[in-house]
Amino acid sequence: MPARLTLPGFVNTHSHAFQRALRGKTEGGDFWSWRESMLDLAGGLTPGHVRESYVETYREMRAAGYTAVGEFHYVGLAEAHAAVEAAHEAGIELVLLLSAYGRGGIDRFRQASVAEYLEQVEELAGAGARVGLAPHSVRACPREWLEEIGAYAAREDLVLHVHADEQPREIEECLAEHGLRPIELLAETGCLGPRTTIVHGTHADPRELDLLAESGARVCLCPATEANLGDGFPPLEGLLGRDIPLCVGSDSNVRIDPLEELREIEGTARRQQLRRNVIAVEALLEIGSGGGAAALGLDEWQDVEADLGHPSLRGVDPGDVPAALVHGCAADVFV
Ligand SMILES: [Zn+2]
Repeated sequence: MPARLTLPGFVNTHSHAFQRALRGKTEGGDFWSWRESMLDLAGGLTPGHVRESYVETYREMRAAGYTAVGEFHYVGLAEAHAAVEAAHEAGIELVLLLSAYGRGGIDRFRQASVAEYLEQVEELAGAGARVGLAPHSVRACPREWLEEIGAYAAREDLVLHVHADEQPREIEECLAEHGLRPIELLAETGCLGPRTTIVHGTHADPRELDLLAESGARVCLCPATEANLGDGFPPLEGLLGRDIPLCVGSDSNVRIDPLEELREIEGTARRQQLRRNVIAVEALLEIGSGGGAAALGLDEWQDVEADLGHPSLRGVDPGDVPAALVHGCAADVFV
């Protein structure tokens, strides 16, 4: 029996499983033209297609060491039930982060009111799904929706995930509409708190980072996707300097590899700060596991085992294995 190392399983805090089908599609000059192809793909989804294709993507996640996933779902209620079934079949713990979408995007996936959205959340929870709230973004949710959802999250003690500050244009539009930056608007509408996870936060300014730190909110970084879409670099110095808790997500699923996401965070921090060991290896592994579990409200999730006989780990001193995982291995090291 080859030696193995048991670790807490990785937690994929932010996934849109259907976007796995877009890997290799290189057309589109920027995020906004990529978004057009993504919406075309989303528009053609059916519950049956979600049920079949998500099983495959969730199996890939499970094989890559992710034992839990937060599916940030904005493609229909019947499809949400199908995603829950697919995760069950693939053997991965799933938190269905049902998206509130009030304007823009695709007609048939929008809710007519915030009341309809909250009814959908309750229906999913009533059917046994583990749920969280996910106002899609300040683009997709009017101010009253954010206020209502923030209050509901606090009352029902549910996690709340929201995209914010991924692209400069979203910030310009929010300033034009509200006179506030996205994270400032989320603070004003009661959407920031210890149950909140901001997805990306790429272009958050120091004032927005202060608001995150004061409220106890987390930030989910998705480095492989943020690189692929040309989003920018996360403000790591500002995040780390304020001790804002981090977690990771595979987001568009262009790559499914938690070690790569963590390596990219540390590599970016090293390039920015011109030094090594910015985030300790233990802290990085915690970002990839416990940080995500806290963001999803999970107390328990499965462990994962690394194969110490894998060529990437052969000859590595036992005490160096955690660092060798982060800096020198891909996800195929997990069994
Ligand atoms: Zn996303």
